[in-house]
Amino acid sequence: MTLSIAFPNTPEDVIARYAQANLISGALQPAQESLDVLNPATGALLGKAAASGADETNFAIENASKAQADWAKVPARERGKRVAAGARAIAQNAELIAQVLARETGKAIRTECRGEVAVAAEILEFYGNLGSELKGQTIPYNPRMLTMTTLEPLGVVAAILPWNVPLVLGALKIGPALVAGNSVVLKASEEAPFATFLFAEILMEHLPAGVLNVINGDGARCGTALTHHPKIAKITFTGSEAVGQKIYEVAASKIIPASLELGGKSPMIICEDADLEKTVAGAISGMRFTRQGQSCTAASRIYVHESLMGAFMDKIGVALNKLKIGDPLDEATDVGTIINAKQKAVVDRFVDLAKNTDGAEIKTYGTLPSDPALAPELFMLPTLLLGLPEDHPCVTQEIFGPVAVVQSWSDYEDVIARANATHYGLAASVWTRNLSTALDSTSRLNAGYVQVNQNLTIQPNVSYGGFGRSGLGKEASLEAMVEHFTRSKTIVMNFD
Ligand code: NAD
Repeated sequence: MTLSIAFPNTPEDVIARYAQANLISGALQPAQESLDVLNPATGALLGKAAASGADETNFAIENASKAQADWAKVPARERGKRVAAGARAIAQNAELIAQVLARETGKAIRTECRGEVAVAAEILEFYGNLGSELKGQTIPYNPRMLTMTTLEPLGVVAAILPWNVPLVLGALKIGPALVAGNSVVLKASEEAPFATFLFAEILMEHLPAGVLNVINGDGARCGTALTHHPKIAKITFTGSEAVGQKIYEVAASKIIPASLELGGKSPMIICEDADLEKTVAGAISGMRFTRQGQSCTAASRIYVHESLMGAFMDKIGVALNKLKIGDPLDEATDVGTIINAKQKAVVDRFVDLAKNTDGAEIKTYGTLPSDPALAPELFMLPTLLLGLPEDHPCVTQEIFGPVAVVQSWSDYEDVIARANATHYGLAASVWTRNLSTALDSTSRLNAGYVQVNQNLTIQPNVSYGGFGRSGLGKEASLEAMVEHFTRSKTIVMNFD
């Protein structure tokens, strides 16, 4: 399908289209200032995005607020149909969106970006079909009285995105928010905004103007103006623990709900009876090595039963050595780059800490690219850290890079305790063929998303969200839409 919005069909022209602009009330609105977005694989300037301050942010919120009243009156099924139509248009233009995403995130087009657009469209389509499920209840009270609950939209939702998987995380927020009758002001990640703008503008074509608005800017000015605005009725945020805490404080001061999807340090427990081939493949996909480990759900603490340690290390070494690290736009590439120099420095610091630890072993795999067209700084080899004490920062803190800790275990009670010895609680996985071990461990692991014999990513109909400092609330699923994007009103009618 050709896009009916009049913009050119190359990634470069798409990026130029959103130069220093926001998308407010269905139109491009120039911002007063801009910020640079770099291509992490080459170090070159990719484009200039809007650096919105309070003026632009307030303008977006006022427009969203005006549009929301009429949007709420559109029957829920009709709202859903429009979102589903937008999802199909996104799927039809997936390649262009993926090409933009690969340029701004450094993620490989084949292993990451195409899949991300497809999953994001699937999430929107899933929510588009759920309009008719926004049901209340009737409550038995008295034969001549009608007591019922109805689900209402909240108003204007502020949705704030990180850079690592902006489209999937954006779809998980705007899909349910819109179908439930809210309007949305979506703040793109300033590190990787352009694919988010394109994705949203294609969806906007199927929505009344102002129902979905996209702004870009940094957290300090744009993010703060957004969360503090009195017309924001709900904040849905995915990002770091530190910013999540700040946002929760703002929400508390205004007494509005906030959903927070924050960091993780997810354990993967490999039992003696596990299928080793599947486990090795699961460790590589679970650690998201093809996304340079930049995943909140990354299986970044791998606990291997001591009887399998040698075989596991041999097999994972062979598999990791086969991953091709290089140009994100090359179809042969499996692994691209870290997002930016700041994040690379964070990851390097963790590896240096491991290097300076007695008894630690640092293993790296594969080959760095030698293509002179690429800037070498942000490429990094998949890395496994062994022999670290359990209280080492590399074991306890989120690294958010291609670095996993591998520890051996022998006592089941001990490994469950080690897996739970974290303030995070996002995800966990257990690898065993024993049903009793699976049942026991899944009930005892302190994480919101626990899998057995797999490390799959988000599914639209399966609720996902962390315990502890990994966050508050769920995303994906019907329950998440009802719980986090509607309010329940109780109505009691008396005809006695
Ligand atoms: P970040 O917290 O630095 O930024 C996230 C977003 O918040 C950005 O859009 C940023 O501009 C904005 N922001 C920053 N300060 C703000 C403020 N004071 N008020 C409002 N908005 C503000 O995170 P990041 O570096 O973009 O992403 C990486 C982090 O995200 C990691 O910690 C990772 O674990 C987490 N993450 C979590 C999930 C999940 O589902 N749990 C998914 C992806 C990423």
